[in-house]
Amino acid sequence: MEAEVLVVGGGLGGVAAALSALRAGRSVILTEEYAWLGGQLTSQAVPPDEHTWVEQFGVTASYRSLRDKIRDYYRVHYPLTERSRAWRELNPGAGWVSPLCHEPRVAVAVIEGMLAPYRGSGRLRVLQPYRPVSATCDGDRVTSVTVDGPDGEIVLTAPYVLDATETGDLLPLTGTEYVTGFESAAETGEPSAPGVAQPDNMQAVSVCFAVDHVDGDHTVDKPEGYDFWRAYKPDFWVGPLLSWTMVNPRTLEPAERSFTPNPDDDPLEVRADQRANPGDSNLWTFRRIAARRQFEPGFYPSDITVVNWPIIDYFESPIIDVPDPAAHIARARQLSRSVFYWLQTEAPRPDGGTGWPGLRLRGDVTGGPDGLAQAPYIRESRRIRAEYTVVEQDLALTVRGDAGAVRYPDSVGVGMYRIDLHPSTGGDTYIDVAACPFEIPLGALLPQRVENLLPAGKNIGTTHITNGAYRLHPVEWNVGEVAGLLADFCLARGVAPRAVRDNPGLLADFQARLIAAGVELHWPDISGY
Ligand SMILES: Cc1cc2nc3c(=O)[nH]c(=O)nc-3n(C[C@H](O)[C@H](O)[C@H](O)COP(=O)(O)OP(=O)(O)OC[C@H]3O[C@@H](n4cnc5c(N)ncnc54)[C@H](O)[C@@H]3O)c2cc1C
Repeated sequence: MEAEVLVVGGGLGGVAAALSALRAGRSVILTEEYAWLGGQLTSQAVPPDEHTWVEQFGVTASYRSLRDKIRDYYRVHYPLTERSRAWRELNPGAGWVSPLCHEPRVAVAVIEGMLAPYRGSGRLRVLQPYRPVSATCDGDRVTSVTVDGPDGEIVLTAPYVLDATETGDLLPLTGTEYVTGFESAAETGEPSAPGVAQPDNMQAVSVCFAVDHVDGDHTVDKPEGYDFWRAYKPDFWVGPLLSWTMVNPRTLEPAERSFTPNPDDDPLEVRADQRANPGDSNLWTFRRIAARRQFEPGFYPSDITVVNWPIIDYFESPIIDVPDPAAHIARARQLSRSVFYWLQTEAPRPDGGTGWPGLRLRGDVTGGPDGLAQAPYIRESRRIRAEYTVVEQDLALTVRGDAGAVRYPDSVGVGMYRIDLHPSTGGDTYIDVAACPFEIPLGALLPQRVENLLPAGKNIGTTHITNGAYRLHPVEWNVGEVAGLLADFCLARGVAPRAVRDNPGLLADFQARLIAAGVELHWPDISGY
């Protein structure tokens, strides 16, 4: 099969890349390994992690359109109360983590809707579920990618190949030079980097799940491995992993969390603003994706909330470049099932009792075969060795202060999030560094050698550390969108991606193209946190 742009991986970056190339008039093949497009927003069941100004600026126009359509979908299809329907910045789940917490299926429907006209016209072909298994190259060009799925292996060719897989799978398959884990301070000059590189030291993966709480006893059978995880006490943690005593990411001191299903809060009073209130004291409302009071009385018997807390972080092994990644993902799923069982049976309750037998696993909401999310939430990918690598000192508040993050002449987007590294396979508890609102340099999207492969997700030229700020939903979308537009631009002009960065005239034209498409290249004059 052949197209002008091949996008391998249908997460947020892949979807954004496909959409931007399609809107530019290109033919696209998009492949996805799981049943849902949308990656971290859908198959991984992580409601968006966004920044404080998201309702005003700081995301691309098409990302904003995705958000608007999610809200509209609720207004059209759901029995919202009058108050909720009238709420312009509707947050269906009224979660504290994000001003737009919603059910993954809604995002799937919206993404499918955005792609539908191109499917109908035949310009977009989606291969699902398919995953890449091999590739061929001719010198510095990728000539084909072979994917495997229900109809066996299919060879795909395109002048531009975008790697939007969650773990940068095309990098080893195409021999594109890449990095994993923690770079050394000698290499990057980063204040928080170790003396010696640690390629196996990567952030935990997490298999998220959704729960609700109703009357009755819904306790599941004790999962395999429960006794192991119940007793599990990592050296670098503050106690047993399965506990309400977690770690404060900034101070690394013990932090008590609580959990109270279905509180009587008013969803319209929730103002998700991480600066004002991280909102993780009651974990029920932290990542709540359906607030029952948003809907006509009795329509939802319970709120629905997503469990994505550090106690489901699996850091026993990386899942990249290890002999048997599937075995580790299976162990991560076992940990998540154990956490659910612990919540039902042994977790201390505020009233002194233990366990909430009324909790139900809502696999119907997340679509996974075992009641959990379909896919593990992957924070850290293989990363290309890029023309430019974004380093901690480009955006760390302690380094940059009032100057703000480095402004790149080749900026192709913006983002904002603290550098928030979760517990890692190398035994780092958290690395948490305040960041300034930052830009995305085009150089981070350009492999040093390979000509026609572009990263379209978390596999750009960041480091282990800066990935902690660039891994979030809006940034991944921005990166993918730019990769799609860059492929179009290079096809139209007959130039190589690296030339766009190297030639000031081409760069100016490309940046003008991005601005016309609604990509913000710089922040307005704001003070971050
Ligand atoms: C589980 C979890 C989930 C999270 N989810 C999200 C999320 O979804 N979205 C999100 O945005 N964050 C998220 N965070 C990050 C976290 O909540 C934020 O770190 C926190 O809200 C920042 O608030 P703060 O202002 O207290 O930070 P502080 O560490 O106190 O901020 C640093 C200080 O520097 C000051 N400052 C910052 N920038 C400037 C500047 N340019 N000039 C001068 N002074 C400055 C601030 O005023 C502040 O006093 C999450 C964290 C965790 C642990």
